[in-house]
Amino acid sequence: MAGTKTLTMIKPDAVRNGHIGAILNDISAAGFRISAMKLTQLSKADAEAFYAVHSERPFFGELVEFMTSGPIVAAILEKDNAVEDFRTLIGSTNPAEAAEGTIRAKYATSIGENAVHGSDSDENAQIEGDFHFAGREQF
Ligand code: ATP
Ligand code: MG
Repeated sequence: MAGTKTLTMIKPDAVRNGHIGAILNDISAAGFRISAMKLTQLSKADAEAFYAVHSERPFFGELVEFMTSGPIVAAILEKDNAVEDFRTLIGSTNPAEAAEGTIRAKYATSIGENAVHGSDSDENAQIEGDFHFAGREQF
């Protein structure tokens, strides 16, 4: 059975560009419940750990630099089929390829600065939720 939880980050570009409210509105309108949320900033070590799966990729340095460049909003979202439905809501990694109306189509500027993160599996949703939030911060 598909899980009910995913982890999102509103990335530094979208925070800088003033899109927190609009993105949270889209998330709520799509039927997700926010069960944890905070404004925070990743350290270099945090970003390297969070994106460790990409450590051998050519864009890793750029990704870590960008993700630490300013505050982010981290949140755990709940809904049936959360991981897949959230990735549909945000659209393709490259905003130029993201479907019309998706969060990345509306708010992202490039493949590197693409407005939001979404977990890619139920297992990673759990790991990433616990990366950002203590048990007493999850409701
Ligand atoms: P995310 O994990 O942030 O939700 P994603 O799952 O759509 O994004 P991944 O393949 O996991 O995409 O890549 C993680 C992040 O690395 C992307 O969101 C993007 O910011 C960055 N990235 C991926 N590919 C490239 C690339 N070719 N050039 C620059 N940055 C990239
Ligand atoms: Mg990913």
